[in-house]
Amino acid sequence: MAKLTVRDLNTHGKRVFLRVDYNVPLEEKDGAMVITDDTRIKATLPTLRLLIAQGAKLILAAHLGRPKGQREATMSLRPIAARLAELLGCKVNFVDDCIGEKVEKLAGELPPGGVLLLENVRYYNEEEANDPVFAEKLAKVADIYVNDAFGAAHRAHASTEGVARIVAKRGGKCAAGLLMELELKFLGDELDQPARPFVVILGGAKVSDKIKVIDRLLDKADTILIGGAMAYTFKLAQGFQIGQSLVEKDKTDVALAALEKAKRRGVQFLLPTDNICVTPVKTDKLNKKGRPILDLTNPRTNAEANIPASEEGVDIGPATAAKFREVILGAKTILWNGPMGIFEDKRFAVGTNAVAQAVVDATQQNGAKSIIGGGDSVKALNKAGMGDRVTFMSTGGGASLEFLEGIALPGVAALSEK
Ligand code: AMP
Repeated sequence: MAKLTVRDLNTHGKRVFLRVDYNVPLEEKDGAMVITDDTRIKATLPTLRLLIAQGAKLILAAHLGRPKGQREATMSLRPIAARLAELLGCKVNFVDDCIGEKVEKLAGELPPGGVLLLENVRYYNEEEANDPVFAEKLAKVADIYVNDAFGAAHRAHASTEGVARIVAKRGGKCAAGLLMELELKFLGDELDQPARPFVVILGGAKVSDKIKVIDRLLDKADTILIGGAMAYTFKLAQGFQIGQSLVEKDKTDVALAALEKAKRRGVQFLLPTDNICVTPVKTDKLNKKGRPILDLTNPRTNAEANIPASEEGVDIGPATAAKFREVILGAKTILWNGPMGIFEDKRFAVGTNAVAQAVVDATQQNGAKSIIGGGDSVKALNKAGMGDRVTFMSTGGGASLEFLEGIALPGVAALSEK
């Protein structure tokens, strides 16, 4: 059923409690915290502008980092108020708490179209515990609840779920913001009835993270392309040697079940036929977990089905990239989640970039709808300067995956139906 959105509301003169995702990266510079990427702030501007134009009194709530219930100064939302004021071109008030008399007073004094940003909701442990008393305190300034924080919607926290339930109980409306609406449209409706062929590209580290998504998409997709370390679990399950490659040995049965389901349902399921291999060599340096950092030496293309015992697969090879491109160019709907290799290292980003280019070409030249399911694929597209050339890039990471698994996200479930 469709969710109510901000476009269905009349918020004039009403206090709108708006949950946003302002969990932006910050860096300390000359004693002050500076925002290094404001993409998430910019993504909320359409909703903010609409509500300001309606004459709502806007009370913005968000979390930043993991302060674990402490007033951690480096995780204050204060710098975000300043940046938001610049972007909106209007005053943004800031209050150094998210509940209490001070908040209620300032919210009460807001004129129609006024904006108040609350301090980090995670300064209270009650936020993540979805404590009902805390949620009541937050809800004191809420006539209407709007959620535009898709990236936090998979968590049933006080500001993402509890407040909505309280507002609804009082007879108030709970609506999706414009960004949330887009996420639900592209990750939901568009993939429910995809134009065919529907091609799904999955990569990244682990099969276990994505097996539920694979299982669900096997009911819908025409073709599934698998890259990344995930492919090695499938390869191992098929009896190939995978050398030192990252693998989940205990997930081969899961991989085999997916391969069988693909066969049963007539879904084309393509694994890499070649790869880029390196020889990992231990260094003296240790990583955060105390394990030796490996130098990935002697990269080479391996066109054999097996990977030698001393080597590790770190990217898809050129023949696989070419085959994946051909399939992607034939698609009418594309969903992509997860890199094809260790793309953080330029040497092993070639396969991921080739897939990114193919997705962009299918979109721009063939009119395919391309949906990027969040996380590292979004990073890879942005890094390659191609972020604006696909149909939609999800702002969620964990939330996108859970939504694609078909799980009802608590932050979405709490919103009113149209
Ligand atoms: P995920 O969060 O599951 O999408 O995984 C993303 C991570 O998978 C990235 O940090 C990649 O470096 C990593 N990755 C992709 N392919 C490989 C590979 N062949 N070996 C090791 N790590 C990989």
